[in-house]
Amino acid sequence: MSARILDGAAVAAAIREELKPRVAAFSARAGRPPGLGIVLVGAHAPSEIYVRNKLKAAGEIGCRADLFRLPDSASLNYVLRAVRDLNESEVHDGILVQDPLPAALGDDASQAVFDLIDPAKDVDGFTPISAGRLSQNRAHLAPCTPSGVIELLVRSDIPIAGAHAVVIGRSDIVGKPMALLLLHKSATVSICHSKTKDLPGVVRRADLVIAAVGRPEMVKGDWIKPGACVIDVGINRIERDGKFKLVGDADYASCYPKASAITPVPGGVGPMTIALLLNNTLIAACRQHGVKLPE
Ligand code: NAP
Repeated sequence: MSARILDGAAVAAAIREELKPRVAAFSARAGRPPGLGIVLVGAHAPSEIYVRNKLKAAGEIGCRADLFRLPDSASLNYVLRAVRDLNESEVHDGILVQDPLPAALGDDASQAVFDLIDPAKDVDGFTPISAGRLSQNRAHLAPCTPSGVIELLVRSDIPIAGAHAVVIGRSDIVGKPMALLLLHKSATVSICHSKTKDLPGVVRRADLVIAAVGRPEMVKGDWIKPGACVIDVGINRIERDGKFKLVGDADYASCYPKASAITPVPGGVGPMTIALLLNNTLIAACRQHGVKLPE
């Protein structure tokens, strides 16, 4: 058996095309485009690339997107002030603070930021209000990466209801919301983490494997039940044969022959994350303006 490759780049491009007329319809009604404010703190090479891609994608579909660049030396108070300004901005409907924040800001810095973002503008879906709404299956704005995974599964006709989904990773921004979204789609969900006993054995029972671990190529082909679907959320930059390359959290070479469908890295979940961020920006703009979400 060889797997169907789930082309997240192509699906994301289709979503962006669908968003263009909807964004134009909002802009015509509101007299201005949906606006996204991105805060980037310090110099972090991968974040520079992610932010550039987000700004470009937003501009291409007709959104306004502004980058607020803060120095490495910025204090937490300074970052929080930038978030407060965006909370009050009349032209920004969505706020995104690019993760990770510099380690010098302390372990609780991200949570302090998420606690402050106006939930109405929480296009990343990380605030406690958004997390609570998601757990109750009434999210306005769900986290972009897990939402992107669901959208990719649905548009690829991969069955979710009744499937046994194993999510490897329990972070607040990927693993946990991923598990909840799958549960709300009626999957039977197992959540694994660093203390899970016999991880390969648990994964072997999965119809749907979601790898969100942050460990390059950790999930091996002999963990995969024949015919399972493998969604690789991981993005890891590794050096191999003297060259840098991006790999996922699943070992593509050994998983591909076992799976019925698999996402590549890059070109799988990554582009879907950006497409769903744009979708969330439009949702946030419509809700704040009392404009019906354009079809
Ligand atoms: P994270 O916060 O570091 O969480 C990693 C999770 O993996 C934790 O729950 C951890 O368990 C678990 N884990 C670590 N080692 C493990 C092991 N040996 N066995 C089982 N579980 C283990 O990472 P994250 O932010 O969720 O991101 C996960 C991956 O997704 C990363 O590769 C990241 O780059 C990628 N990502 C991609 C996108 C995208 O757009 N494609 C977006 C966000 C993140 P404990 O909780 O027990 O420590």
